[in-house]
This record gives sequence, structure tokens and C-alpha cells, in this order.
Amino acid sequence: MTAFAMTIDGQPITPSETFDVINPATGGLAGKCPAGSAEDVNAAVAAAKAAFDEWSQQSDETRRQACRDMARVLGENAEELARLLTTEQGKPLGGLGSRFELGGCQAWAANTAELELPVEVVKDDNEGRIEIHRKPLGVVASITPWNWPLMIAIWHIAPAIRAGNTVVIKPSPYTPLSTLRMVEILNTVLPAGVLNAVTGPDSIGPVLTSHPDVAKVTFTGSTETGKKVMANAAGTLKRLTLELGGNDAGIVLPDTDPKQVAEGIFWGAFINSGQTCACMKRLYVHDSIYDEVCTALVDFASRIPMGDGMDENNVLGPVQNAMQFEKVRELVEDAKANGARVLLGGEAPQGDGYFYPITLLADVTDGMRIVDEEQFGPVLPIIRYTDVEDALTRANSSSMGLGGSVWSKNIDDAAALALRLESGSAWVNSHGGLHPNAPFGGVKQSGIGTEFGVDGLKEFTAIQTLHR
Ligand code: NAD
Repeated sequence: MTAFAMTIDGQPITPSETFDVINPATGGLAGKCPAGSAEDVNAAVAAAKAAFDEWSQQSDETRRQACRDMARVLGENAEELARLLTTEQGKPLGGLGSRFELGGCQAWAANTAELELPVEVVKDDNEGRIEIHRKPLGVVASITPWNWPLMIAIWHIAPAIRAGNTVVIKPSPYTPLSTLRMVEILNTVLPAGVLNAVTGPDSIGPVLTSHPDVAKVTFTGSTETGKKVMANAAGTLKRLTLELGGNDAGIVLPDTDPKQVAEGIFWGAFINSGQTCACMKRLYVHDSIYDEVCTALVDFASRIPMGDGMDENNVLGPVQNAMQFEKVRELVEDAKANGARVLLGGEAPQGDGYFYPITLLADVTDGMRIVDEEQFGPVLPIIRYTDVEDALTRANSSSMGLGGSVWSKNIDDAAALALRLESGSAWVNSHGGLHPNAPFGGVKQSGIGTEFGVDGLKEFTAIQTLHR
């Protein structure tokens, strides 16, 4: 079995202790992960701090080239990383699975290389000149979740390094192996200490987020943990980007053709078996087409093969871990007990792996846990409405505000309604699509700050205003 190592100051570090990483498709062992300690976190931060002195002084072109090189080696090693990702995360190799995720990693690294942060001139006249400079912050701590482990890691790493910072990444203990291997690969094109990786239990997270030599924390994960990160970072007033949970609503307007939108709605809700922050997690459908939309979704969904991601025929994989599987099962059981009608799935199967079937629930109402909480699994509750304003109010009643979508034949009407959603992103006739230059982030309790594009890059810098 492959041995995995943390990377600190460009060196492989293998503590004597390891923990098991489970393959969610089989329940078997995916690999053994180094169980790092607080000392390892401290060593990684020290290495990143030492490397910052030189890295922050490198020319813009050198840092740009580093991102291009990262994109290149990600491409050269994509298949190995995709297979490892499928083994520990469960998502299929094909479709919108591991190879797609590696493609995203390359695209984001390459795009970040081309972003510019030029000096801005506020004033330049015979009284003087005022310039705005963007300077790197120092050591960035990156903490990532288990749903899109590599893509999210690159969303953190590439802009941090492009802007002249150094990084310590701590992946989720559920999916640490692909990140460890990716960091090794990226270290072949980066100076020692610029990118370090530590793995271990959740308890090493606070060591990193409260470390006095960490200047910024970029965290993607649950809202609950995000609040702890914010509290821990407060002691030294660290900069924060928090990309947290979502409970995205989709609103289907009465003029929509159910057959035409079924595929888009399905993938908006079920990509990565629903384990995506900006998945559609509640669908509001107008009463006049409610039954037709339900039928069209069942027709489409029943043709989607789910199974072991290593089998190229499968397009959806298991829920990633036992705890999440239990949560999904519990929320569906609660909905059934409260009157939800199962259109598809809805029963946890026996057997190996955490396979929860594609589940469509009708006659669901606000107030049921499956609507009010983030299910983060392959389940879509379909809620009936009669008044568009009322649907909008219900969509906006969540404490979350990551994304939302409106579906209609009339793009302008849909866009006008989408702009009234309380969400960081809004889509018309699609849900969840991202672009490396389109700012992404949550409002309300879905997060703080923005990722991607120039706005995202700026979050890895501090302004220095020069009056001369
Ligand atoms: P999680 O909050 O349980 O864990 C995220 C990371 O935080 C892991 O690496 C974990 O080890 C670490 N961690 C745990 N306790 C910590 C602490 N006290 N201090 C510091 N770090 C700590 O989240 P998860 O279950 O891995 O991911 C699922 C959640 O992430 C969902 O709510 C989902 O919506 C959200 N998510 C959001 C986005 C986004 O961009 N908004 C993207 C992906 C996932």
C-alpha cells in the first residue's frame, strides 16, 4: 500500500502514528494517513514563515510562472490524483467526478496565473501622488472539507501563492490522502516551505487557526466549524475567508417546461451526490406544474447509475462517510414521518459502502428538517407554492445565503427575481455553475469574503497606501 507523507519545508514527514482513511464505496481501507501533532503544525508554520521572506520578494512574473507550473504538473499527474481521490472520496472517475475535479484544479491554477493586481494611482498632480499597493499577508492557513478536497485546496493555494504568501494546508481527515499527494507534486515546482501540508485529527485545526504566526485563515467547511475558526482567529485578529454551508433554493416559475429543465435541476441538486456547498437543496415548484415537474425529475433521475466510482459506468458515488450517511437517512425518515411522499429512493440499502439512493421527496413543507437543514446528500425535497412572492419569501427565510436559482422561459423575469434572492450567487435556468473569474461567496451565515478572480486574489493581500 502507498505510504503517504506530510510535507514540511519541502521534506516528507512521516510520524510513527497513522489513522485509517476509509473507502466509502466499500467500507475498506483507502490508505493510512500520517497523524500529525501540534508540533508538526508548529514546524509547518515555522517553515512557511521562513519561506515567506524570500517568496514575498519574488517578482510578479516568478509567482505567475509558479501558478502556470502548478497547473502543468496537476495536468501531468491528473489520472493518478483522480484515482486516489475516487478511492477516498467516493466520487466517480468520470462524469462530474474526479477527472472533472482535476480539470477544475488545472483551470483555476492556470487562470490565477493570469490575474493582475497592478498598483492603482488615486491621485497624481503637482500636490503629490497617492498609490495603492497590494502586499502579501504572510502565512496563510488553509483548511478544507471532504466533498471537493482537491478543487477547494487549489482555490485556497493558488491565489495565496500568486499574491506572494506561503501556505500550510490541513485537509479533512476523511479525505487527506489526495491532498498530501497533490502537495508533494506541487512541491516539485515550488521552493521549499512555500506550500506545506499537515494531517491529523480535527483537534490540530485550532492549533493552526490560533497560531500567532498565521496571518490569514481561509476555511471551507460547515457553518458550525466556521464560527469556531472565527473565534480562534480573533486572538490575533487574523484575516478570514469563510466559505460555509448552504441551503440553496431553486424556484420554478409557472411558465417553465418541466421536461426541458429536469436535467438541469437534477444536476444542480445531485452533483457529487448532493455533497456540494452550492447544490440546490430545496426546490419550490408552482402548483400548476408541480406534478409534471415531479414526473420529469423521476424520469431523469431513475436513469442515473450510482455505484463504486472506480467503475466507469457509474455517474454518482456514495455519501462520503458514515456520519453524513446517518444524517441523510435521519432527515429522510423525519420527512416521511411528517407526511413527505417518496417519489424515488428513500430507503437506506443494506450492503457495503455508504450508498444512499437518489431520493426525490414530494409534498414537503417548510418547517420539516429536510427543508430547514442542509442535507448534504442525494436527496431533493420538492415544495409546492402558489404565489411567487411567497416562494421568494420562503427561499429567503434561511439563515444561509450561498446560492439560489430561478427557472423560467422568460429569462428577464427570472433574472429580476434571482436578483431578489438573498444569496452570494444566483443562477437562471441552471444551478451551481462556477467560473474562475466570477466571484463566489456566501451572504448571511454562508460565509465571509469572496473567492475567485481579482476580488478573490485581493483577499490574500493587504493594502498599503503610499503618499509621496
Ligand atoms: P467541517 O466543518 O466538519 O470540516 C471542515 C474542515 O475543518 C476539516 O478539515 C476539519 O478537520 C476542520 N476542522 C474541524 N474542526 C475544526 C476546528 N475546531 N478548527 C479548525 N478546523 C477544524 O466540514 P465538512 O463536513 O468537511 O464539509 C461539509 C460542509 O462544508 C458543508 O456544510 C458544506 O456546505 C460546506 N462547504 C462549503 C463550501 C463553500 O464554498 N461555501 C464548499 C464545500 C463545502
